[in-house]
Amino acid sequence: MKKTLKKEDTYYENIIKKGYSRRDFMKFATVMTAFMGYESSMVSQVVNALETKKRIPVIWEHFQECTGCSESFIRSDHPLVADLILDTISLDYTDTLMAASGHNAEEAKQESMKENYGKYILIVEGAIPTKNEGYCTIAGRSAVEVLKESAAGAAAILAFGSCSSWGGVQAAHPNPTGSVPVDAIIKNKPIIRVPGCPPISEVMAGVVVHYATFGTLPDLDSMNRPKQFYGKRVHDSCYRRPNFDAGLFAETYDSEEAKKGYCLYKAGCRGPVTYNACGTMEWNNGVSFPIKSGYPCIGCSENNFWDNGPFTERLTNVPGMGIEATADKVGKIVLGTAVAGAAVHAVATNIAKRKEIRDAEKRGEQNEQNIKA
Ligand code: SF4
Ligand code: SF4
Repeated sequence: MKKTLKKEDTYYENIIKKGYSRRDFMKFATVMTAFMGYESSMVSQVVNALETKKRIPVIWEHFQECTGCSESFIRSDHPLVADLILDTISLDYTDTLMAASGHNAEEAKQESMKENYGKYILIVEGAIPTKNEGYCTIAGRSAVEVLKESAAGAAAILAFGSCSSWGGVQAAHPNPTGSVPVDAIIKNKPIIRVPGCPPISEVMAGVVVHYATFGTLPDLDSMNRPKQFYGKRVHDSCYRRPNFDAGLFAETYDSEEAKKGYCLYKAGCRGPVTYNACGTMEWNNGVSFPIKSGYPCIGCSENNFWDNGPFTERLTNVPGMGIEATADKVGKIVLGTAVAGAAVHAVATNIAKRKEIRDAEKRGEQNEQNIKA
């Protein structure tokens, strides 16, 4: 029988009370360490933090969005990933997933914000409309007003998804609702962008676990994205990359060449200008990702991606990339000959990273066996 959860419990106490075994916990901590990009020697530090630290209160606001980020999150194949946020980490408010509704939900949020002022994490899903206060009202108040109130007592804000990070589809031309990202409204708080349409669930969890473990924000790039997950282009870890370097291109995504694994650059792939972990972590517990399923990357984690289409047209005018020149040049010269060393390295890195994550899962089980022995 599950025991009663208390707010003062540590993460570990919560996990055990919720019916998970220590083995589940070790596996989770080991996999999260790998996802966060740390060496296996850091597992004990993550375990120690989760065993001893009190939970961080989380308020999750939903504005103009499709709830795809929440969907991505709760569909994770790692059972503890969703639980981590939904309960273990103390999700005090999310109007989409919580059992309470109406006045009860609003009261729970007000109580948590007051009790945890200056300490809670604010997660924002969705863009914020600014043109008309009637757009996206929650409990009779505008999204702008709700965001300002929730942000006031937050220790940090996580902008989950491309809508809260960049404005998303709502901000696409002509942007009828005047939608903006979180950082257009909130200027005095650390804001971490976790973009994607939606983001990978383990990436969202990894950012939260990093904060819970170390009490600090992860290393960020110049766009405020965590470097562990957004430090490389999809192109850098794409398994079709050797074909790009060899000049083997599919003209359309539904061609025989595309099925053979030829590069999708000429079919509109945005992988060369998109920073995300899809090629490394993949989706659905590492089963696949869009390019592997045969469709070009549409750059969903990048700013203004909806206005960068049509998605099936070849990418042009990429400043500093020289991508057109490279594609045409390699197409003429090296078709069917040597594969560039860089491609070999990129794909090897990709395979190594996936192996590292699989090994981490095995280590999680081994760590548990060692503890029992
Ligand atoms: S252009 Fe797209 S399909 Fe081709 S190697 Fe780069 S990411 Fe992969
Ligand atoms: S492959 Fe590209 S479009 Fe697809 S999920 Fe990843 S970043 Fe988004």
